[in-house]
Amino acid sequence: MDFLWSREQDECYAQVLEQTRNMFATRPDRFWTRAQWQQCGDMHLPGLSVPERYGGKGYDALTTARIIEAFGRGCEDMGLVFSLAAHLFACVMPIVEYADEALKNRLLPDLCNGTLIGANAITEEDAGSDVFALTTRATRDGEAYILNGQKSYVSNGPVADLFIVYACTNPSYGYFGITGFVVERDTPGLIIGDPFQKISLTSTPACRVSFESCRVPIANRLAQEGQGAQVFTRSMQWERSCLFAAYLGQMERQLERSITYTKERRQFGKPLGRHQAVAHRLAAMKLRLESARLLLYRACWSFAQGKHAELDIALSKLAVSEAAIMGGLDAIHIHGSLGINSAYGIETMLRDALPSTIFSGTSEMQYDIIARELEL
Ligand SMILES: Cc1cc2nc3c(=O)[nH]c(=O)nc-3n(C[C@H](O)[C@H](O)[C@H](O)COP(=O)(O)OP(=O)(O)OC[C@H]3O[C@@H](n4cnc5c(N)ncnc54)[C@H](O)[C@@H]3O)c2cc1C
Repeated sequence: MDFLWSREQDECYAQVLEQTRNMFATRPDRFWTRAQWQQCGDMHLPGLSVPERYGGKGYDALTTARIIEAFGRGCEDMGLVFSLAAHLFACVMPIVEYADEALKNRLLPDLCNGTLIGANAITEEDAGSDVFALTTRATRDGEAYILNGQKSYVSNGPVADLFIVYACTNPSYGYFGITGFVVERDTPGLIIGDPFQKISLTSTPACRVSFESCRVPIANRLAQEGQGAQVFTRSMQWERSCLFAAYLGQMERQLERSITYTKERRQFGKPLGRHQAVAHRLAAMKLRLESARLLLYRACWSFAQGKHAELDIALSKLAVSEAAIMGGLDAIHIHGSLGINSAYGIETMLRDALPSTIFSGTSEMQYDIIARELEL
């Protein structure tokens, strides 16, 4: 077992940390901007795991995760980090792995360089955790499919240039009756809703997306008809392993700020950190961070090695997301009243952590995967 990073991995981590600290030191009032997305493109972040021949950096899952971790640590705006990672893992990687060559050559360079923004649309009103209970239909019509239905939560939706959409092509086939498509923004019949108001990841624009007789060429289909569930499952492996590295970065930043604060703030004649109860809370934060970190690195390593990684990925996703929420609560508690002061930037880390146990499959769904892997 080797715990060393290569020189290139170390350099990438340090460079992205420094650049994102400088570029994204504050949170926007509302949504991140195209100019900020382009800055990410200039750092090659939207295409980290995309092969170089399509304009990406060609990194494996572990290296990609390490760089996403640096981004999550350096960037104060977790909404931007989330948007970027959702774009990469749930939109770009399905194209890399399942689109035909012509579509890859047409879309991937601009998805990697910051010109195009991607989104993923699967969740529906009645298909959340029960994700393959889709009612959006795709009906074959000559050299195209006609899509009808509605998606209820699409991150990046309001600004996305293209969407990975999952629809039912054959309801009687269940899991094998779902197909994935690339739907481009200017496609007639694609209707993009207004952005939601939310308390977490506030700079990530999210909305409903509807399809009304939306005609999608067969060339925009991912894999074969009926293989959409497989495409989506694979994209969730990328997302559950690599995206969550951003929360390792956030927890690192949170711990650094908490330690600094408890060294400076004095009560009862000594620094807060010299009170054992406070010090133990910080030690517990460190323990959760490092345990989650090891699980995440192992999950990304297994995934990159092409091993059966379902168990490792579910363990990692659970550990990171639950630790992120606990860390958010602890950081607020340690900062006292400043912890809930919006101007201070501590409470936002809890708000941004809260949905991490919901998206990419809730904690209960991860426990189900673990139980299945244990053959229960
Ligand atoms: C920040 C954020 C970003 C998102 N981005 C996207 C996106 O870009 N694209 C997209 O398609 N979707 C997106 N989603 C939607 C997300 O995938 C769903 O919210 C998630 O799958 C859960 O579905 P649900 O909200 O309908 O909850 P439900 O499935 O209704 O679950 C509600 C609660 O019931 C529990 N539950 C459900 N079934 C079971 C069971 N069998 N056993 C035990 N407990 C159960 C769940 O764990 C949860 O606690 C996003 C969600 C969030 C919060």
